[in-house]
Amino acid sequence: MAEPKIAIVGAGIGGLATAAALLQANFSVTVFEQAHHFSRVGAGINLTPNSIKALDGLGLGQAVCALGFQAQHRVSRLWDTGEVTSNLSLNEGGLHKYGAPQVTIHRAELLTILEQSVDAACIQFNKKLMRLQQDPSGVTLEFTDGHQERFDAVIGADGIHSCVREQLAGGESPEFSGMVAFRSVIDVKRLPKRDYRALTKWWGPNSTSQLFTFLIDEKESELFVFATAPLPDWPHESWSIKAQKEELLGLYAHYCSEATSILEHCDDILKTAMYVRQPLQSWSFERVALLGDACHSMLPFMAQGAAMGLEDAVVLARCLSMMKGHDVCSALKRYEHLRLSRASKIQLASAQNDWLRNDSNAEWVYGYNPWQIEI
Ligand SMILES: Cc1cc2nc3c(=O)[nH]c(=O)nc-3n(C[C@H](O)[C@H](O)[C@H](O)COP(=O)(O)OP(=O)(O)OC[C@H]3O[C@@H](n4cnc5c(N)ncnc54)[C@H](O)[C@@H]3O)c2cc1C
Repeated sequence: MAEPKIAIVGAGIGGLATAAALLQANFSVTVFEQAHHFSRVGAGINLTPNSIKALDGLGLGQAVCALGFQAQHRVSRLWDTGEVTSNLSLNEGGLHKYGAPQVTIHRAELLTILEQSVDAACIQFNKKLMRLQQDPSGVTLEFTDGHQERFDAVIGADGIHSCVREQLAGGESPEFSGMVAFRSVIDVKRLPKRDYRALTKWWGPNSTSQLFTFLIDEKESELFVFATAPLPDWPHESWSIKAQKEELLGLYAHYCSEATSILEHCDDILKTAMYVRQPLQSWSFERVALLGDACHSMLPFMAQGAAMGLEDAVVLARCLSMMKGHDVCSALKRYEHLRLSRASKIQLASAQNDWLRNDSNAEWVYGYNPWQIEI
């Protein structure tokens, strides 16, 4: 039987990791991306040990570790007094416990590493999916430029506003969470002299207000600031809207001076509204499956959105490899069965935003290895 011809819609972190995993397993893959080219959006990203294990099996973990920063501790502190409420060790003990380090890196660096792992000939830009139709023998994709192509299987990795999801699971839209996120990168030399090496989460007076800081390069020269606040009347989702420092300082004025002294050095600040979806009942629909934010977009409080997409990619490729061309529908169903409950649980826990506030039970999240679960 011939190898199945697989299409991936979307070349974000999830789509690129899926392409890398399927190519590694010798599948024929085409990635369709609506953008004209890759762009360098975003700032820092926190890759927890489960993400690094997914990347390791793709041969990409080392490159990420070489460019990113490996924190030795993840510390929770109270916004007003600065009191430490939990301290999770990520040093050698943590490495042994979770099987990989925690790496924080510039999102652009991660995307470059993923892009370079996928043969450029497999990626088609400027291809916006408009419609898909499936029948018992295959799936036809139809793009806004009129192009049509038929595949044996299709993976919808097209993000929170997924067109694939809309076609198969209905048109319910993501909901505005009532919160915005501010992001900024600061040159550490400009900050008051202190030790910034711990990943630090300053927990605010309620679950919508928090401040998270971490270094994002192995030279320890840049500190990423990620802050959320309630702003129910600001629903703008773009990743390129600028904010003023005064707004940030006003929203966090009640935080202790150690926290606000960091915010005083944020000059280039991006502001985006955060949207959320509820867990889906089903991710696979005969020859089509959803992956990444397309099926489980979540609030970023556990730093697990990209992590779940990376885990999905590995498990999906392993399920398809097991069935090698024989039964694509069963392979996609098996993928859904193995992934849906874990991702939904993390989606719901992320919305609560209390994980690791007072405790250090990270093992159920960080200990997972998508290369080792039974397929
Ligand atoms: C503020 C913030 C901070 C975060 N921090 C972290 C963190 O520290 N750690 C972590 O693990 N996660 C984090 N996340 C979550 C993480 O960024 C996302 O889960 C992840 O980027 C989703 O990747 P994806 O590939 O599924 O979707 P996307 O990145 O949205 O990619 C989807 C791709 O599909 C393309 N596309 C869309 N529609 C079509 C179409 N019709 N046709 C063709 N192409 C299409 C898009 O152009 C895009 O390239 C954070 C999220 C936010 C908002």
